[in-house]
Amino acid sequence: MSFYVTTPIYYVNAAPHLGHAYSTIAADVMARNMRQRGEDVFFLTGTDEHGEPVALAAEREGLTPQELVDKNAPRFVDLMPRLNVSNDFFIRTTDPEHKAKVQEVLGRIRENGHVYEGVYEGWYCPRCADFKTDAEAGEDHLCPIHKLPLTREKEDNYFFRLSAFQDDLLKLLDEQPDFVMPRHRYNEARSFIESGLQDVSLSRSTFTWGVPVPWDEGHVFYVWFDALLNYYSALSYARPGEDLTDRFWPAQFHLIGKDILKFHTVFWPAMLLAAGLPLPEHVFVHGFLLIGKDKMGKSAGNAIDPFNIMDEYGTDALRFYLMREVSFGHDGAVSEEGFRARYESELANDFGNLASRTIAMVHRYRDGVVPRAELDPELAAEIDGLAGEVCEQLDRADIAAAGEAIWMRVRRLNRYVEEQAPWTLAKDPARANELDTVLASLVEGLRVVGVVLHPWLPESTGKLLGALDSPQVELECARMQAGRLGAISKLEPLFPKP
Ligand SMILES: [Zn+2]
Repeated sequence: MSFYVTTPIYYVNAAPHLGHAYSTIAADVMARNMRQRGEDVFFLTGTDEHGEPVALAAEREGLTPQELVDKNAPRFVDLMPRLNVSNDFFIRTTDPEHKAKVQEVLGRIRENGHVYEGVYEGWYCPRCADFKTDAEAGEDHLCPIHKLPLTREKEDNYFFRLSAFQDDLLKLLDEQPDFVMPRHRYNEARSFIESGLQDVSLSRSTFTWGVPVPWDEGHVFYVWFDALLNYYSALSYARPGEDLTDRFWPAQFHLIGKDILKFHTVFWPAMLLAAGLPLPEHVFVHGFLLIGKDKMGKSAGNAIDPFNIMDEYGTDALRFYLMREVSFGHDGAVSEEGFRARYESELANDFGNLASRTIAMVHRYRDGVVPRAELDPELAAEIDGLAGEVCEQLDRADIAAAGEAIWMRVRRLNRYVEEQAPWTLAKDPARANELDTVLASLVEGLRVVGVVLHPWLPESTGKLLGALDSPQVELECARMQAGRLGAISKLEPLFPKP
């Protein structure tokens, strides 16, 4: 089976912040888990580089738009290894192959009769690069997202006949109720469509920074149509000399923020229907990270700096906190205090200590060799169900629930240590077999948890599994198995106090 997951492409003029890290890490957890299952995975991220705001910013800086995006895109390209994410490709919408694909697909939409010429007049937010309906503009003509004054724009445009797809889109939502996830976002998409769809501008003619409309030189495609097509175009050129489209399209999951719901749940499926292309399986809409009550983003002056956290605590700690603190699909508060509390209680104490003391006991009582003993069947029954549970949760993109299932096992193993008290067993030579079973069970349980936890903490679980001399992370290894481990190495604390 193939699995294709995407993040939104990030606006190239923004400085990378915690919100970018959040959606990218989430996609990475899903991609890594699928690779652990042995699936054929493609994971895409990238930058959105066209549109009027980019052209205006370049002008202010005395650069060409291409120079500006070439200067800014590396901040996002470099973010990916910094977050230790495993994306298979990084798309830039200024890539010539992308532009050619946009022209091809939108040309097909025109040939299919869904494009016409007209004059557009309406309220426009340059920051959104989007026209607002009269209802959205309200009486004060402010952008409902940016609270900035909208401008009245009138220009020759090509239009996409979005209104013609209203019934098809409602049918899609009826037949594919998990096309938009979670449910409250499905309802939002549905009511937007039911409120009536207006045709939308497909092109702009007042500036030139975009993909040229091939049938009319005076126009460039409206940036959203160009940007959305990244998910499709990337597959055609991500591997030189190979077209991956048949192998990976349609995508299983587009992960997006709730501010771009309309584009992904209305425009995007309509475009694909108009082009005669298959639709993705799920658009999963995550919430915002909140600091107090403010949305995390460039405007939030007191934002948590992900780079400071990674410098001080390591990348795994940031990954873990973001995936564990906020239920994926809902808004959630994040804070430096919350980060430190979770780092200490869960990473350092629950998991780090479990790993350290388990390995230390094998060294103290059995000279660093895991005893070849029968495993505790009750413990094994609790641990062996973990991988299946986690996969089931991740199939619904419920990353927080999957994390909780893992943490129940981490806590269980810590309780097991307390219940069995290996230090007491070790004092009584008559109970050597019991001690063998306890140590072997503990270290196998630890190994299995390390395997399942790998997508969250790739670096630390790599160290742990390396120390156990069992580096395999395939999920078929995520079952407790007597005699699997032999000599093991000592392990430095995985999550030291900074
Ligand atoms: Zn706006």
